[in-house]
Amino acid sequence: MQKNQIVELEITDLSYEAMGVAHYEGMTIFVNNAIPGEVVKAKILKVKKSFAFAKIDEIIKESPDRIKVKLNQWVQTGLASLAHIKYDKQLDFKKQQVVNLLKKAHMDNIKVDETVASPEETGYRNKAQVPVRMVKGQLEIGFFRRHSHDLVPLTNFFTTDPEIDRVLVAVRDILRKYKVPAYDEIHNKGEVRYLDVRRSKATGEIMVILVCLHKDFPQLPKVAAEISNLKDVVSIVLNYNPKKTNVILGKKDYLVFGKSQITDKIGDVEFKISPQSFFQINSLQTPRLYDLAIKKANLSPDDVVIDAYSGIGTIGLSVAKHVKAVRGIEIVKDAVEDANENAKLNGITNAKYVTGKAEEIMPRWANEGLKSDVIFVDPPRKGLTPEFINAAVKTGPKKVVYISCNPATQVRDLELFKEHGYSFDEISPVDMFPQTPHVESVTVLTKEN
Ligand code: SAH
Repeated sequence: MQKNQIVELEITDLSYEAMGVAHYEGMTIFVNNAIPGEVVKAKILKVKKSFAFAKIDEIIKESPDRIKVKLNQWVQTGLASLAHIKYDKQLDFKKQQVVNLLKKAHMDNIKVDETVASPEETGYRNKAQVPVRMVKGQLEIGFFRRHSHDLVPLTNFFTTDPEIDRVLVAVRDILRKYKVPAYDEIHNKGEVRYLDVRRSKATGEIMVILVCLHKDFPQLPKVAAEISNLKDVVSIVLNYNPKKTNVILGKKDYLVFGKSQITDKIGDVEFKISPQSFFQINSLQTPRLYDLAIKKANLSPDDVVIDAYSGIGTIGLSVAKHVKAVRGIEIVKDAVEDANENAKLNGITNAKYVTGKAEEIMPRWANEGLKSDVIFVDPPRKGLTPEFINAAVKTGPKKVVYISCNPATQVRDLELFKEHGYSFDEISPVDMFPQTPHVESVTVLTKEN
């Protein structure tokens, strides 16, 4: 097989990155944007030992699940790499990801629920972080082409709240007006690296974060004054990121205008959110995710609850009024401050959050003899560590509710809990990220007698 060769392929599967999978002369071929059931003529892009990458040259037989995407760029950039597939099939795809992982781990007996659909299929994101670059001599916002740092200019971000898109474009125009240079990542020069815009659906408040190479730049006062006049903008922050890095946010924030936090709501609990704090990005689906997790926890008024990987305390504070005490752990200091402030804001006196690594704090708590009844964990993609799991189990919870944004590490961790005498019989995928291949899933582990 050679680069640029055209081969006819029958697509039999979707990879976890949402690429069509085909087999050809003993090779596995991954075809961009192809859908199972389709027959395509594909052009080979890259050949490895046992697999190759290809793109569609011509669709010979089209899948009935394919839908026309308004802007090719959404799929090209990976902003919405499932957008060409009907939404109900996206939900099936996500369920199937979990089924496949369980099968590989010889846990075929576990029931996988139907994926819980998101109330909004587009425009659901309450936050957008978009790169700013010079393209053909003009400052542009957009999204990087998949597996690259080539900026594809965009003004409609499709999965983002349209009110956020409105502000993104307006800020772009203000930056152009004052000739603020975009970041040049090759020379680590220029100024604005990213625009990070967040909007609370509950209150309408908008925060604009300019991620910049320097702490200040000459046009900042005028730029900030114009941004502050945009409808609903209540906060402007300069985030200082001087490093040559792919990490979006730097560690320091400087408040340029308005408030340092915006306020959002989940159910009837109010949350203040700082720039460095994590907040679930699908506002309407989050309460459904939490309701499911909380229902599975089967809480009682005497329970001591641990909220690990807590962010600003959204899960723990949602249950605090129904249990004896909540103890939370979170690595980002600002998020912990938000969590403790949010407890006060909502008149909650039995919840306390501490800053630290969950894998270090949990063993300390276990050694101090802390006992827990229910533990919620909601780790980032890399999942839990064996140290965390050993310590968590030592605190003796009846139940561990595991919310995950990466079912591969979740399944790995569930096996470890099983070795400690915990069992589970179902996993529920919840679609937090329509149009993208990301899978969120919830399960509850119960201590066996
Ligand atoms: N439960 C929250 C946050 C989930 S996101 C919610 O539903 O909104 C995962 C959180 O884990 C992030 O806030 C991240 O900052 C935090 N985190 C990442 N690594 C961590 C670690 N090693 N120890 C504790 N928290 C960590």
